[in-house]
Amino acid sequence: MFAMLAQITIGTADLAAASLFLFGLKRMSSPATAKSGIRVAGIGMIAAVLTSFLYVFGVDTAARPHLMVNVALAIIALGIGGGGAWLVGRKVAMTAMPQMVAIYNGMGGGAAGGIAAMELFGNRTHGATQLLVTLLGGLIGAVSMSGSVIAWAKLQGVLAKPLRIRGQQLLNGVFLLAAVSVAGWIAVSGLSGADPVLPLTTWTYIFFAIALVFGVLMTLPIGGADMPVVISIYNAFTGLAVGLEGYVLGTPALMIAGMVVGAAGLLLTLLMARAMNRSVANVLFTNFGQVAKVHRGAITGTERATEASDAGIKMRYAASVIIVPGYGLAAAQGQQKLYEFVKLLLAAKVSVKFAVHPVAGRMPGQMDVLLAEAGVPYDLIFQLDDINAEFATTDVVLVIGANDVVNPAARTDKSSPIYGMPILDADKAKQVYVIKRGQGKGYSGIVNALFYEPNCNMVFGDAQAVLIKMIEAVRGLGAAAA
Ligand code: NDP
Repeated sequence: MFAMLAQITIGTADLAAASLFLFGLKRMSSPATAKSGIRVAGIGMIAAVLTSFLYVFGVDTAARPHLMVNVALAIIALGIGGGGAWLVGRKVAMTAMPQMVAIYNGMGGGAAGGIAAMELFGNRTHGATQLLVTLLGGLIGAVSMSGSVIAWAKLQGVLAKPLRIRGQQLLNGVFLLAAVSVAGWIAVSGLSGADPVLPLTTWTYIFFAIALVFGVLMTLPIGGADMPVVISIYNAFTGLAVGLEGYVLGTPALMIAGMVVGAAGLLLTLLMARAMNRSVANVLFTNFGQVAKVHRGAITGTERATEASDAGIKMRYAASVIIVPGYGLAAAQGQQKLYEFVKLLLAAKVSVKFAVHPVAGRMPGQMDVLLAEAGVPYDLIFQLDDINAEFATTDVVLVIGANDVVNPAARTDKSSPIYGMPILDADKAKQVYVIKRGQGKGYSGIVNALFYEPNCNMVFGDAQAVLIKMIEAVRGLGAAAA
């Protein structure tokens, strides 16, 4: 009776958790509802985690004497994991988000791999389909885990250089083939009862070891700059692995959550690749940032610098200003000062809009989050397709810590590594100001043709420091008038 009640509660709670995930995700599609979407999905996650403890009531505790010890261990693990994530999540800097996502991704892949390992070691899978799904989920989860750890190490600067060796792709192919062969061996001998030569547990260890090494080998040669796309690919992998293991455990919430994450990761990967005008294969198999370092194209002339105060005053008297934020704004943590400056312009009846490129910064959506964090109203923020036509009729464009996303070479220079990448047409405005610290290149490592255009002036300095000077200059006008 108790067990049946537990089963009904588990089924209902699982369905509720899955519905909350989907509803939360729907709300995340707009900046205005995204915060509540995250909360809703979080409640779904809490429901799913709590529900998993109800399984204890449906288990014959006499047959599983260690069950209560496992429950205690799970609670301790939840405390450590949840507490750690809460602390880190509160402190993480906006520029360190990609690393954090990489680590969480790796944990998801590791959890899926862990479920597969428990099923295989415990010999708990029934039938060919379940065994094959367990192995596939285990392989994908393990690759995602070790690959994500390498991605984290590269983004964190622990591993500085891409490690390429001759015949790398052949070696990767050998490891993948070996992992699939061992999986096949485990499946065939497990199902047919044939002698596996070594114990099946030993083969299971070998299988996971090869899968983990394959994840490392696959990620090591990729340049650190391409890591966000790689993380997004591993995100898709992790989702798929979790979904597959959800099927093995017969848990609908896990299946739905896994498939949603997998689909989101896949879409994000394609979106990022398209916004950079590169194929996913190009990201995985070429070394973009390194190759591109010397590209200057046909650029001649010099950059012209101007004072922050002059640029600020010019904007105060303009009719229209478009602001293009980029990675450097996040690095300088200048978003609050930027909005303070924008409020001064708005108070002076200047039309101000923000233009956000889909891959500005180092994560999709990073600029939207940054601006939202500073309190910029959503109706001032426009995406590339919605604002690009307006640059030509705009008085001043202020580019802050952005580089590649406004490089006109993407439109004009066929030899440029970023040729074909959709860019924000900042160069078409009457006047452009670019805030950056010096001669640092963007992510692609190429020289920006915009900085040498006659309508462009550079305002050198840290984005936050320059914005403070601009604010002072515009406030100074008000004080002088009074
Ligand atoms: P970029 O990386 O092209 O340029 C950033 C610029 O910011 C640099 O030129 C740097 O110049 C400047 N900068 C750095 N720190 C500061 C600071 N403290 N104050 C002022 N300026 C600073 O950035 P974008 O946002 O324009 O472009 C993003 C790039 O990243 C694109 O090439 C995109 O393809 C790539 N990418 C984006 C992903 C995404 O999902 N968003 C994922 C993967 C790649 P200086 O050193 O002189 O200050």
